[in-house]
Amino acid sequence: MKNIMFIAPPAAGKGTQAELVVQKYNIPHISTGDILREISKEDNEIGNYVAETLASGRLVKDEITYQLIEERLKKEDCQNGFIIDGFPRNLDQAIKYDEILNNLHLDIGNVILIDIDEKTLEKRIVGRRICENCGSIYNINDEKSAPQIESVCDNCGGALYQRTDDNLESFQTRYQMYKEKTEPIINYYKEKNVLQTVDGNDTVENVFKKVDEIISK
Ligand code: AMP
Repeated sequence: MKNIMFIAPPAAGKGTQAELVVQKYNIPHISTGDILREISKEDNEIGNYVAETLASGRLVKDEITYQLIEERLKKEDCQNGFIIDGFPRNLDQAIKYDEILNNLHLDIGNVILIDIDEKTLEKRIVGRRICENCGSIYNINDEKSAPQIESVCDNCGGALYQRTDDNLESFQTRYQMYKEKTEPIINYYKEKNVLQTVDGNDTVENVFKKVDEIISK
């Protein structure tokens, strides 16, 4: 199957869509945000730097992301397709990504942009809760995505937590970063003829239907 890349503003649902793709196609989900959140728990210089940067909503240094992406893509399980989510996040990273793919003889595959309104994102971000055990994503402000029991994961019973950067202040910075740094890569992929756009202002199921139409072609 073709490799898949998701591009989307913060809280557009790319993590949720990626998990649905994983369930259906059983390919690895590589999220730089998830990897960085793990690194941020380490009590050392790099862990502290990453934790502070994530909480502020700014982007971490490119070099850190290159190293972790390259190491992850070298693993055997990426040979039969993978989903990359959260990388590249600026034009330099997009150019570097081409180089990494080239060196590893991997293909860019489908680049999927989830397009969504800023107001919808603001509402989603403050209500997002994540299971600390299995990573399932909920939204307490949306009936359809809320957990059945407050703060408890429907899937595994794990405790739900709120990301340190899921607040309005960090959102403003993250959204600004997206507009300024990430949006230029949309044109980069348009010119390469690999970009497809999905309307993200819809239910999780309907967005996934459109995503699945693209990747099952
Ligand atoms: P995400 O889970 O994709 O929303 O990412 C959470 C945070 O991790 C971002 O706000 C950035 O601080 C950091 N991050 C994730 N991916 C990258 C990347 N490719 N380059 C720089 N920072 C990143």
